[in-house]
Amino acid sequence: MYNDNIELLKLVHLSQFDIDYERTTVHVDMSNNEITINLFINPSMRDCPYCKSTHSIIHARVLKRIYHPVIENRICIILLHSIKFKCNECGHYFMQFNPIVSGSKNISTLGELYILENLRKNRKTFKDISNELFIPHTSVIRCFDEHVNIPRHNLTKVLCFDEIYSKKLTKTKYAFVILDPISSTVLDILDARLKDCLTDYFSRISIKERLKVLYVNIDMWETYKIVAEKAFPNATICVDSFHVIKHLNDAMDKIRLHVQKRFVEHKDDDRNGYYWLLKTFHYYFVQDFNNIKYERKPNSHYSYLWTKHDVLNKLLSIDQNLADSYSLKEEYREFNLCGTYEEALYKIDDFIERFKKAHYEEMRDFGFLLARWKYEIINSFLIVDGKRMSNGPMESLNGRIKRLLYDGYGYSNFNRFRNRLMFCLNKNEPTKFSK
Ligand SMILES: [Zn+2]
Repeated sequence: MYNDNIELLKLVHLSQFDIDYERTTVHVDMSNNEITINLFINPSMRDCPYCKSTHSIIHARVLKRIYHPVIENRICIILLHSIKFKCNECGHYFMQFNPIVSGSKNISTLGELYILENLRKNRKTFKDISNELFIPHTSVIRCFDEHVNIPRHNLTKVLCFDEIYSKKLTKTKYAFVILDPISSTVLDILDARLKDCLTDYFSRISIKERLKVLYVNIDMWETYKIVAEKAFPNATICVDSFHVIKHLNDAMDKIRLHVQKRFVEHKDDDRNGYYWLLKTFHYYFVQDFNNIKYERKPNSHYSYLWTKHDVLNKLLSIDQNLADSYSLKEEYREFNLCGTYEEALYKIDDFIERFKKAHYEEMRDFGFLLARWKYEIINSFLIVDGKRMSNGPMESLNGRIKRLLYDGYGYSNFNRFRNRLMFCLNKNEPTKFSK
């Protein structure tokens, strides 16, 4: 055998096996990027697996075509030549042992490992891998289903509850995710977030394990609160402050639109430029002022260069109630950002009162929201292991989940989807090979 061939066998990770180099050949077809290996394994062991007899005869030679997807963008096929033996003692037939492929599969074991390694990557779909490795789409899925079935992880001290919107995969439109924010591990994913489903799920977990849960972070979905209170007697429930601020920003944006609408009739004769200002700089009302870039926008209304302070002052000069709403919103945002748990305890009632008395209905509604979730919001100011309680780690996972969901093809069942998410999102999730 040529040295080139030995190098090629190394490249496709076959040199580690006990190969019959005299007979094995490698053919590289450059035109369609294909490597074909006529592979012969040395028949070292020929003990009968039934009676352990060492006396067997060659019954037939068998040729098997196997996908060996271990290099990207290249077709790699093994034509495995093996021997079928007949035992002289007990008369059974058995195949020569080979370390390349197991049972009646058509993908090599190394190929399966390579597929799984690729499936761990967020950005790769079943289809991508099928295209890159030149193997059938269904083989990729079969390989995944066979080797990846992840059990739930134990509950941890801090939990985050959240949902993933998926109409296609779940009966109730939402899948439910339990995350440990400290280790950023997805502990489990369920196919519904309904009260009965969640209650039933947690009731199957021992009380000993549930008592270890000390904090649960939720968004403002009432069911989560009810379920968590029942399932985790020792837990403090915290409402994620990101969601609180989102409600506040939504209210502020609606108020800005009210004011803007007042000027819509005069927009062609927008002498003050109010309509234009509110429409163009709408984001000033919801974004952190520090994050807004320096503005320099001369226009038909104002010919001089502006700083972002000029813009904000102009916007707030349009309407006193709009300005008041903005300043109350900013005050709450600042408090949410910098406040301590102790401050939250005595400041929250004052905020509730002021929002409830606000001019615009949207601000008053926000006041009622604060009142309804008062204790959970105060709890969100708690610091555990140096970090403020929040669903933040979950939110950052959400982006990765969405990518997997939307570009993923092949999730015809929820279980596969769940396994794929946990396999990609968690570090070191085992496959059946790891055991
Ligand atoms: Zn035998």
